[in-house]
Amino acid sequence: WAEAEEFLVDVSRLGEGAGGEVWKVEDTRTGTKLARKIIQARTTPPKQLVRELKYLKDTGHSNIVRFYGAYISPSSSEVKVLMEYCEGGSLEAIGEKIKQGKGRVSEPVAAKIGEGIFNGLNYLHSKRIIHRDIKPSNVLVSKHGTVKLCDFGVSGELVDSFANTWTGTSMYMAPERIKGGQYTIRSDVWSSGLTLMTLAQNRFPYPEDLTGIIELINYITKEDIPKLMDEDADQDGYAEVQWSQNMKDFIDVCLTRDESQRPKPSEMLQHPWLVESSQRKVNMAQWIREVWGWEKRGRPTGSSHGSSQSSDRQ
Ligand code: ADP
Ligand code: MG
Repeated sequence: WAEAEEFLVDVSRLGEGAGGEVWKVEDTRTGTKLARKIIQARTTPPKQLVRELKYLKDTGHSNIVRFYGAYISPSSSEVKVLMEYCEGGSLEAIGEKIKQGKGRVSEPVAAKIGEGIFNGLNYLHSKRIIHRDIKPSNVLVSKHGTVKLCDFGVSGELVDSFANTWTGTSMYMAPERIKGGQYTIRSDVWSSGLTLMTLAQNRFPYPEDLTGIIELINYITKEDIPKLMDEDADQDGYAEVQWSQNMKDFIDVCLTRDESQRPKPSEMLQHPWLVESSQRKVNMAQWIREVWGWEKRGRPTGSSHGSSQSSDRQ
């Protein structure tokens, strides 16, 4: 891919995380759109980093973002990763869009997203990979509405939120991780539950005034863990919502504070909420089209989504 770089042209900037920028690029030889992420080699020498990233080649699953290659850019000497471009954007962008329209994700759609996340995690687990950084911006959606996990921790440096700094602490991290303890595949279950809850409620579930890591640790270790609640219609224009008991229980179980009591992803797949969902057909392609106002088949309507949807968000 280093040799192919001259054929890649930037289409639009998808955003920027702690590590570096992500661009939508086009391979001018084929017209294929890809996502290219620049990774700052903080502690790992670039060559070693590229070697580590090449392990991503061995991952292939419908709920995991496809990895094409990692290389050191001949022009800038930066480490770059090429991956599948997900037209549907991230759950973060989708959540913002739904909120703008005063909408809500429906429970059957939320459950399909849950299925995708946990099938992806279960697959990573089978490869002995802990994701380490599940959060709405790392859960992407394809143009067909399939959920795809990205930025998982094959190399510590691919993870947006790097260890032991406040800026590197994701609010979605499990208590054991935030406290600096051992973390496991069960830590991903916490982060996934919180991600689903954020999407369902159109807001991050913790109080807004948690501004530092000490406060976050205090909150997460001492206060009651948030629960998924039904909501009444309100003045802001939101309709009332009632979630099923299964969904509430599912979120509760994901947010088990004691990691030794928290189930693994494979166990979460056996939870009635996901089992029922797996027996239900939901048109996820239609859902993602509706979120972004895409015409059936083909191009987005007007100037929405595509480049402009994602280029102006962080
Ligand atoms: P973060 O995930 O912390 O926001 P990143 O640098 O990982 O930071 O990503 C920047 C933005 O690019 C995010 O909004 C993310 O959802 C988006 N993004 C990353 N990879 C892809 C991809 N393969 N397809 C579409 N969007 C992507
Ligand atoms: Mg990311």
